[in-house]
Amino acid sequence: MKDDSPIRFNYHTHTRFCDGRSEPEQYVQEALRLGMHSLGFSAHSPLPFDTPFAIRWNEVEEYCHTILELKQKYADRLPIYLSLEIDYIPGISENFDQLRNAHPLDYTIGSVHLVRPGDREGLWFIDGPMAEIYDSGLQELFDGDIQKAVSTYYRYLNQMITGQRPTIIGHMDKIKMHNRGRHFTEDEHWYIQLVEETLDNIQASAGIVEVNTRGVYKKRSDDLYPGRWVLQRIQQRHIPVTISTDAHRPEELTAYFDETVKILAEIGFRSVMYIKDGKWKEHPLC
Ligand SMILES: [Zn+2]
Ligand SMILES: [Zn+2]
Repeated sequence: MKDDSPIRFNYHTHTRFCDGRSEPEQYVQEALRLGMHSLGFSAHSPLPFDTPFAIRWNEVEEYCHTILELKQKYADRLPIYLSLEIDYIPGISENFDQLRNAHPLDYTIGSVHLVRPGDREGLWFIDGPMAEIYDSGLQELFDGDIQKAVSTYYRYLNQMITGQRPTIIGHMDKIKMHNRGRHFTEDEHWYIQLVEETLDNIQASAGIVEVNTRGVYKKRSDDLYPGRWVLQRIQQRHIPVTISTDAHRPEELTAYFDETVKILAEIGFRSVMYIKDGKWKEHPLC
């Protein structure tokens, strides 16, 4: 496919191996139907305790095997890539290198969904289906101190960026999802400071920022992850971005994708990152 082809790819997808629906092959079929350029699978990495979303340890081999088989089967029709969306929880989650060494991952997505407070036991689930879970975690684990809680999220995100070096930084400001202006606003000085520090680290680590559309099409967020003002800062700093939909069903493979391309072009981005022949390249936006 030529570089001036329409931009349609997705490297952040979840199948029945974790919390998604459908077999991986159904995603491949849908990607072919949509004329997508390439497709990456990124099951939630296994964790040492039960979660409603992560792949189980004993299924990781089968997952990798399944994706690698699809890669071969569709080699002449659709480039397919193997990945994991790896959780970062200091002292609990697997070292990213361990997973990279154990499995032939084409790239990694690093994300923080569970925040461990520095001074007590427990995990704050910032990405749950309900705002009530976010609110009760904020109360119980951080005594309702939103600045402390959000700062802890960003501290771990930054540790992950500098220490684990994922290829892609997943939904970097997802902490805002259940906030919706209730506990803090994004124009508060301390919050802007946290975002700027994060961008400093992303720049230094040469990571790719994911522009994740899921919050918008699931109507859980009024804006993309990261939001527009953060994207403006990213563009000014020339940090590379890629677009993904964080699909949990085949029909979500390109949800809000074309709209996001337009938004990025309006902000001033000239290109987005995609994988061509196994290598990350820039795809021009116009
Ligand atoms: Zn995620
Ligand atoms: Zn995801």
